[in-house]
Amino acid sequence: AAAAVVWRRRSGGWRAEEMARELEERCAAPGMEGLRRIAGEMSAEMAAGLAEDGESKVKMLVTFVDNLPAGSEKGLFYALDLGGTNFRVLRLQLGGKERHIVKQESREVSIPPHLMVGTSAELFGFIASELARFVDSEGGDFRLPEGRQRELGFTFSFPVRQFSIASGILIKWTKGFSIEDGVGEDVVAELTKAMEKQGVDMRVAVLVNDTVGTLAGGRYHDEDVAVAVILGTGTNAAYVEKAHAIPKWNGLYPKSGNMVINMEWGNFWSSDLPITEYDQELDAESLNPGEQIFEKLISGMYLGEIVRRVLLKMAKEAALFGDTVPAKLKTPFILRTPDISAMHHDTTPDLKIVEKKLKENLEITNTSVKTRKLVVKVCDIIAKRAARLAAAGIAGILKKQGRDTRGDGEKRTAVAIDGGLFEHYKEFRECLKSTLEELLGEAASRSVVVKLANDGSGIGAALLAASHSQYNELEE
Ligand code: BGC
Ligand code: MG
Repeated sequence: AAAAVVWRRRSGGWRAEEMARELEERCAAPGMEGLRRIAGEMSAEMAAGLAEDGESKVKMLVTFVDNLPAGSEKGLFYALDLGGTNFRVLRLQLGGKERHIVKQESREVSIPPHLMVGTSAELFGFIASELARFVDSEGGDFRLPEGRQRELGFTFSFPVRQFSIASGILIKWTKGFSIEDGVGEDVVAELTKAMEKQGVDMRVAVLVNDTVGTLAGGRYHDEDVAVAVILGTGTNAAYVEKAHAIPKWNGLYPKSGNMVINMEWGNFWSSDLPITEYDQELDAESLNPGEQIFEKLISGMYLGEIVRRVLLKMAKEAALFGDTVPAKLKTPFILRTPDISAMHHDTTPDLKIVEKKLKENLEITNTSVKTRKLVVKVCDIIAKRAARLAAAGIAGILKKQGRDTRGDGEKRTAVAIDGGLFEHYKEFRECLKSTLEELLGEAASRSVVVKLANDGSGIGAALLAASHSQYNELEE
């Protein structure tokens, strides 16, 4: 042990640099060719998942959404968006074709952590009580015609097996939620029960995943939106599929000929994924070991935690932060993705932001510029691996849709992306875009646009609630 310490002292940060090089090699290993293979596998898994339930790790859930907003939606509608660390309640006054969104109000509430691992009744009770307060604050500009019940689009961002547009059972929790008694239950029935208890007279008109809400919200503003991706706390995608390409679907053939599919791509797996020992350990210690492996490589909940694990190992084996291992660095999830984003984008000459972050978040002081550079390097490796994999996933969807080879002059495809990781992490966003361009090639990439669909999921849910309103018949 003494010899190791001497060696560490003498070698300074160099062993750490070597570790970073090894990590980089592993994370970038797929190269363009490997990413193309991953895109191909994603597309093949999609087809398998559509063929029969259980045929693929990618669930390809049928959403019962066979029409996306057309722009003529009208009236007052509510949405409730639950899925990450926050939940949001919204109300929208929709003005139809000419006026679009007349007025919109929302409130965001963070979910007390104990409710993420408590009971279903507690979680839904909390949500319903916040919703009740929000409804009470409804002002004069919002108009509900006399005698009508309020209607709600419920965005629930977990895998749900749906039985209709407004019902479905929770398959499993993800993203740090773990409420055993909720699994297998109809989430709409639970929300409705909780609303009744709170005295909220509201009907859940639609139940949608956040990807589906984003697709709907995206389509409202741009009719070429055919794919939606969430890159936030978790990750997932939804897209428009041809109904005849869904062999497992045995419901009524939709008039539109289309069906929106919630892929649940977070659970994708392939032997081509550049998984490291850090990922394996993170997975083993997670609330859902063996599940959501793609998500654990990509999404905002995990990137900071992967970086922490790498730095901890470097501190232990290469004395990255001196002879003692900083105690705070041993705390799981202490480094969050916004922290690594801030460090990654540090452009000050001496990496002052990195210095500050290390001090404030991890109580690590007296770092050399060389050490700080290495920290930035680790953020870069982990964020870019994530961005490239997300790009490969998108390329896989476009391939499945036959939209990956369209050239100039052909109909364009818009991919609506929402989530804090994509919105706020510039290096991630740019790497995703450039990788996707490279995967598609020059001509095809001109026919595909990737765009931020900020808070599309809540708005999309309200729009779908409008098109599934119980009063629609009366309107016509
Ligand atoms: C969930 C998806 C969701 C995604 C993004 C994943 O963990 O399984 O249903 O769409 O996170 O919020
Ligand atoms: Mg969200």
